[in-house]
Amino acid sequence: MPVQTIPSMKKRSSSHQPVKRVPQRTCVACRQVDDKRGLVRLVRTAAGAVEVDPTGKKAGRGAYLCPLAECWETGITGGKLEHALKVTLTRERKEELMRLGRDLIKENVGG
Ligand SMILES: [Zn+2]
Repeated sequence: MPVQTIPSMKKRSSSHQPVKRVPQRTCVACRQVDDKRGLVRLVRTAAGAVEVDPTGKKAGRGAYLCPLAECWETGITGGKLEHALKVTLTRERKEELMRLGRDLIKENVGG
């Protein structure tokens, strides 16, 4: 069925359009702003712990990392995540997060 476009060439004095604020996600490791890569959210809970939040629904201060091993390395081991979330992670906790991250990171082998 052909859809006819309705010509609406009415001139309006006010051309202001409502600006939608799209929440931008920035990887704390590589600073890439791109949600299409499916950045993984990490959240600082009220208790001050940092948890991986794959659903993105947990309450708390959040930070994002690309699902790339190098970004997790830089973000967690390199201290960028601690800086972003204003927390101090123990070495054990970092290793734990790295482990959790590895489960989320899908290696793109063979597409
Ligand atoms: Zn990244």
